Amino acid sequence: MGDGGVIDEIERVMVITAHPDDAEFTVAGTVARWAREGKTVTYVICTDGSRGSNDPQVKPEHLVAIRKAEQEAAARVLGVKEIVYLGYEDGTLQPSLALRRDLTREIRRYRPDIVICPDPTVRYYGDGYLNHPDHRAAGDAALDAVFPSARTRYIFPELLAEGLEPHPVREVYIRGSTSPNFWMDISDTIELKIAALKQHESQVGHLQGWEERVRGRARDEAMGQGMAYAESFKRIVLG
Ligand SMILES: [Zn+2]
Repeated sequence: MGDGGVIDEIERVMVITAHPDDAEFTVAGTVARWAREGKTVTYVICTDGSRGSNDPQVKPEHLVAIRKAEQEAAARVLGVKEIVYLGYEDGTLQPSLALRRDLTREIRRYRPDIVICPDPTVRYYGDGYLNHPDHRAAGDAALDAVFPSARTRYIFPELLAEGLEPHPVREVYIRGSTSPNFWMDISDTIELKIAALKQHESQVGHLQGWEERVRGRARDEAMGQGMAYAESFKRIVLG
């Protein structure tokens, strides 16, 4: 990108989300772009997605397998290499030490240059949307895992015993921030984002007009940036 940051040198990206489909709704255009450039993208999904339906015919235990299959199909569309499922119960995720340890383990194992995660500070957007508590919990634990846990040798010493050495993540891209400072141009990958979202049939199959809403949001995020479609982030470059 040549913007003075370290973005040109990145090789590995980790996307931490609460639910299967979160990455596709929020950052799939960026993921597709980086995967296309040859970067290795790994997803870490904190919950099992088991509560993602209000249909009394759809049982949570069945939904877990359905959503895994959908997530894997979406990942194939985008070029995501690997998916780690932490398996916490959907709907009641907490930013616990156990979650922080699990995310620290994955960061030390995959050694990403960049971590993408949700913004844990946002309770609501505008006057019509409450942020899901699982998103806040995932973002909270992810940021604490990045700093200080992943880079500090003697935090979670049990991970050393697993052979996992400290790892410094270089940049964090927080999505869903109300004060973004970085815009990724996704004009070339918006259609891949839509195609990946289509794989989440259990989540979008019954929705009307979602494609146009996704395009509209990407247009809104691009406003003033000289781009047709964008995904915006709060980018933090760590020392
Ligand atoms: Zn979600």
